[in-house]
Formats: sequence, C-alpha cells, structure tokens
Amino acid sequence: MDYKALAERLLPGNYPDLDSYEKLYPPRDLPKGAQVTRLAPSPTGFIHLGNLFSATADERLAHQNGGVLYLRIEDTDLKRKVDGAVEAVISALKYFDIKFDEGAEIGGDETYAPWYQRQRAEIYRAFVKHLIEIGRAYPCFCTEDELTKLREEQTAKKEITGYYGKYAKCRNLTEEEIYKNLDAGKPFVIRLRSMGNPENKIKFHDEIKGDVTVTENDQDVVILKSDGIPTYHFAHAIDDHFMRTTLVIRGEEWLASLPIHIELFHVLGFELPHYAHHCSLMKQDGETRRKLSKRKDPELSLEFYRKEGYFPRAVKVYMLTLLNSNFEEWYLKNPDKPLEEFKFSAEKMSKSGALFDLDKLNDISKNELSKLSAEEMLDFLKVWADEFGTAAQKSWFMDREKMVQVLTLCMGIGGKKRRKDFTTASQAMDFIKYFFERPAEVDEYRVDGETKRAILHGFLAKYDPKDDAQSWFAKIKEIAAENGFAAEMKDYKLAPDSYKGSVADVAEVLRIATTGKANTPDLWTIQQILGEKETKERVKEQI
Ligand code: GLU
Repeated sequence: MDYKALAERLLPGNYPDLDSYEKLYPPRDLPKGAQVTRLAPSPTGFIHLGNLFSATADERLAHQNGGVLYLRIEDTDLKRKVDGAVEAVISALKYFDIKFDEGAEIGGDETYAPWYQRQRAEIYRAFVKHLIEIGRAYPCFCTEDELTKLREEQTAKKEITGYYGKYAKCRNLTEEEIYKNLDAGKPFVIRLRSMGNPENKIKFHDEIKGDVTVTENDQDVVILKSDGIPTYHFAHAIDDHFMRTTLVIRGEEWLASLPIHIELFHVLGFELPHYAHHCSLMKQDGETRRKLSKRKDPELSLEFYRKEGYFPRAVKVYMLTLLNSNFEEWYLKNPDKPLEEFKFSAEKMSKSGALFDLDKLNDISKNELSKLSAEEMLDFLKVWADEFGTAAQKSWFMDREKMVQVLTLCMGIGGKKRRKDFTTASQAMDFIKYFFERPAEVDEYRVDGETKRAILHGFLAKYDPKDDAQSWFAKIKEIAAENGFAAEMKDYKLAPDSYKGSVADVAEVLRIATTGKANTPDLWTIQQILGEKETKERVKEQI
C-alpha cells in the first residue's frame, strides 16, 4: 500500500517537518533535578478536590527544586466544554495558593504556548500524518452502531472489549476498499495500528506506586476523531513531550491507559516522562469506604470551600497531610514554619486510597484560624463577606474598630488560652452575629418568667457601663442574693437545696438576654462592645 499517498489523501497539505517542532519547543533550560509538572484539566466547569490534590503535589514537586508548573487546558471534547471554566479553574486554585508559572490565561514563557489543545491542531495532525505515512495509523470507517454491536458481541463472549486484533475490521482494509469508502464520503477516524502483544508484560516504575507490571497494549485506539481533533491519549503524548513535562502526576484511574501511552510515546519517538499515579480521595460512608462522589458529596467541589469560607492554609495543610505520610509529624514539630520548607516527595504519597474526612479538616481549620491576629481574621472574613456575605454582613465591617474588639474577644486574644471556636468564615460570621444584630431567637431560659424578669430588672437598676469587670460582677452577685440565688459558688455547692440556683444561673439569664445565647465569651466585655444603649435595649426587650 502507498501509505504516503494515503496520508496525503487523509490529511492533505504541507505540514512542517517534524524535527522543526523539536527546535520550536526545545528542552527547557532548568537547574538539575528540577521537574516540569502540569495540571491538565478539561474545561467542564467542575473543579474538584481531586484537582487540588494533584495540583498541590504538582506545585510542590515543581517549585521546591526550581522547576515549572504549567496549566494546559484539555478541550478536545467540545461536548464537555463550559464557558468560563478556565477562569474558574484558575481562580479556584489561586484561592488555595497554587501558582502556575505558565499556561492558558496565565501567560508566562510563550515558548511552549499555546496551552489550549484546540489551538494545537496542526501539531497533532502533522504527527498523525507521519504515522499514516509509516503505516502505524490507518483510517477506520466503522459507525457508532457497528462499534456498539462489536462491544455487545465481545461482552457476550466475555472477551476484552475494544478495537483490536481480529476485531479491528478496518485495520486490514485493502487500498481499494479504503479509497472506495473515501470516494463515497464516508466519515472516518484515524486509529493507531498497535504492534503490541498482550502476552508481553512491561515493567514500569511509577513514582508513587513503585515498580508495576503492565500488559502491552494491543488496542488500535482512536488518535484523531472524525472532526480532525485528537483524543486525549494522543494529544497528551504530543503535549507532554513538546511542553517538556518531566513528571506527569495524575489520578490512578489513568493507570489502565498507561500501556496505550507507552506505545504512543514509543511510536512517536518520544522519551516517556516520569509518571506518578496518585490514589483517589475516599470517604468513609458507614461501614464502607467509597470514592467521593459529585452527586452525593458537596465537599468534592472546590466551590464548596470558598462558599463556606475555608481558610486556604487550612485546606492546604490538610491536602499535604493526605498527600505525604510524613507531613503531619513535620507540621506538629514546625507549626509556624512556611509550608514550603517541608520536603515533599512523590515516594511518600499514599499508594492506596487517601481517606478524606471533613471533621479532620474542620479541626485543622480551627487550629489554623486560632493562630491569626484579630486584624488578619478581619481581613479574611471581609474578603469572604465581600463575595458571599449578605448586605447586612458586609455592613458589619464599616466599624473596623468594633470588629477588631469582637474578634479579639471571640478568639481569646490576650486571654490565658486562645479560643478555637471558628472553623470557616461563614460559621464565624454566624457566631459573631449577635454583636451586630439583635437575636431573632434566644436560647431557652432555665428559670421561670417571673424570676427572669426580676433578674433583668435588677440588672437595669444597677447597671453602670463605667463599671469595671469586677464591680460589674459584684452587682451580679447582689442580684443573685436578692433573688434567692447563691452569690458564691461554694455556698451553693454546700447547700444546693437552699437556693434557686447560683450566680452562674443569674449570669446565664443576663447572657441570654444580651446575646440570645447561653454560651458566649466574657459577658462584661460583650456589653462593653455593645455599649450602654444597645445593652439596655436588649435587656428591656427580653423583659
Ligand atoms: N484531562 C485529563 C483529566 O482531566 C488529564 C489527565 C492527565 O493529567 O493526564 O482528567
């Protein structure tokens, strides 16, 4: 068969000499040991925790040795493309401090651009044409129907499904048959003519999984679709080579395709990059562990963390905890060091599933937020509120000084021990709401209505906003005594039956009246922040 003529017929026109691409995209000039990694999402609009998991490893492994992390958009499948998806990827990852050096919508060194696969059609076609010319690729005219029937037949016979060996009908078409189909205008795809034999095993070293043995590929996979756009398999091989990727970090679901990729790199004459296939994020669901699911688990979407207002460093700490088995110990010893000082390694990545636990993340979040100053917390909350907060919440930031006082108190800054009540921005905003708005509902009082009113009247009669904390508390004790409550805790403990309760119960009444909550930080300080007028009005309202 005249493959050259066939190639010309299938992909007419002049394509650059293949060597010219090697010169156009030269090997990168990087320090020894520096890795070039990439994130290569499809622009589906759904950016998830798995992307962040990969990207965190990509970022660390590239940047800790002076390498490069770039963003490539794998948009070969138009059906899955969503407008604004690329911006969504960039902004979601930027929130978690993943900085790309180059890439789609990022720019950087243009040498390896463009970073959208659809803009690279010419390179792919040039290489497909070459493969046809050397007899390693061929046109396939099978229709969707025929392929479905083939799959059904193979499934019924319990054989491996796909287009291979004796099932690869178009692989052995004669020259005459091919041209007849072409003349009849039949649509076609281009398939790889695989030379692999599944009896043969290939030993392969994965940076995470270690030595793995895979079976040689014998599938004649599609490399160019009927619209002239390549498949993922083909496009990624070309791109990882010409973007000079040294380490491909991706989910283990791609391990099954590795034999195809090995054959593609080989037939294209490219050196195989190193691969690191990481495990999937799992969730404990009752007795079983399962993969996080888009349908069932809102926490799979990165959008969730922004809407809830998770502190980016907390999420990063948790990602690193899940990614590298020795991170947690390092972090315990070095809680305040920049995370970049941790020596990240692919070998320390988990080989089997990483268990994602939102409670664990929440604990880390509480801890991370408790390290902030009131000003830092304020800035974090404000950024969240500007994007996701209600108009009322946004207005809370108009009085910056008050907000600092509120946060200082709620975070226990200056106290004996820092409080760890804040998990996320939305939760913190909810927590501090009573400083800015009268509570619409209040916790249940544990005294009867008459006693409650007597206590609150007593308070109004004695209240002086100029009292310091001590004098203020002395007055609460007086109110206790006047209403049949023990003014001293020790007296109450000695004879609980002689009292209606203790001074603590009296303070609780006042606390609920002031804040709506039975549990709050120091009440005297809260009333100081609220001011005389607001304190009185709230108490009156409860009477
Ligand atoms: N476009 C593929 C995906 O979104 C990329 C896989 C890879 O990293 O090679 O899953």
